[in-house]
Amino acid sequence: MKVSDEVAIQITKMNKWYGTFHVLRDIDLTVYRGERIVIAGPSGSGKSTMIRCINRLEEHQAGSIVVDGIELSSDLKNIDKIRSEVGMCFQHFNLFPHLTILENCTLAPIWVRKIPKKQAEETAMHFLEKVKIPEQAHKYPGQLSGGQQQRVAIARSLCMKPRIMLFDEPTSALDPEMIKEVLDTMVELAEEGMTMLCVTHEMGFARQVANRVIFMDAGQIVEQNEPEEFFNNPRHERTKLFLSQIL
Ligand code: ADP
Ligand code: MG
Repeated sequence: MKVSDEVAIQITKMNKWYGTFHVLRDIDLTVYRGERIVIAGPSGSGKSTMIRCINRLEEHQAGSIVVDGIELSSDLKNIDKIRSEVGMCFQHFNLFPHLTILENCTLAPIWVRKIPKKQAEETAMHFLEKVKIPEQAHKYPGQLSGGQQQRVAIARSLCMKPRIMLFDEPTSALDPEMIKEVLDTMVELAEEGMTMLCVTHEMGFARQVANRVIFMDAGQIVEQNEPEEFFNNPRHERTKLFLSQIL
């Protein structure tokens, strides 16, 4: 698959602290439009923090992050724009339990994007069809399986028409038999050219879909490469250790 020359995300010398704890150190990362990046690394290495900085769920303190040409700063207007350009899907689906699947998918488009209800519902149905659960539209999240709820969460993000999707371990809370249906949805998105950053331990997915694997440890990007090289010929000792533990 072709990856463009257009920069989607540019992170330069980015540092973040939680209080006195230096969680991200001198992160440099350029993501081109259409890239499918898998972020791997041990627990606590800063993977979630890094992707949360990209849609400003977390603030960085030094260096810069530019998303779609917009520098992330404390300017609130920018943050709204970024949040609508960058969709995010978490380990726990965070659906609103008291709203139907359809209402979960139309809430933000109606209230944030000011899209008329009928049009928002049409869009929602389109994406629920895409993730293959249109028949669940009028049920509540609690009536769906974990895999179905995660696909709703993906559809809900897509309803905002994001140009970039961030995934933070979207399958790690799921039973094994439901992992595939969620990964299949993500594969389809990737094939359609969505720019994606995925924190995941699904190394099969990384091999199949990623054009680049990034390995983080102790708040730094230690190594990055195309999947074949990354898995077959890891350079760094910490990468070798990590791969020996998970593969
Ligand atoms: P990963 O996703 O790779 O497991 P995280 O980004 O969640 O790593 O966390 C990186 C480090 O930052 C961990 O040591 C974690 O305990 C710490 N951390 C995460 N969130 C917070 C927070 N809100 N306040 C303080 N420390 C945090
Ligand atoms: Mg995490």
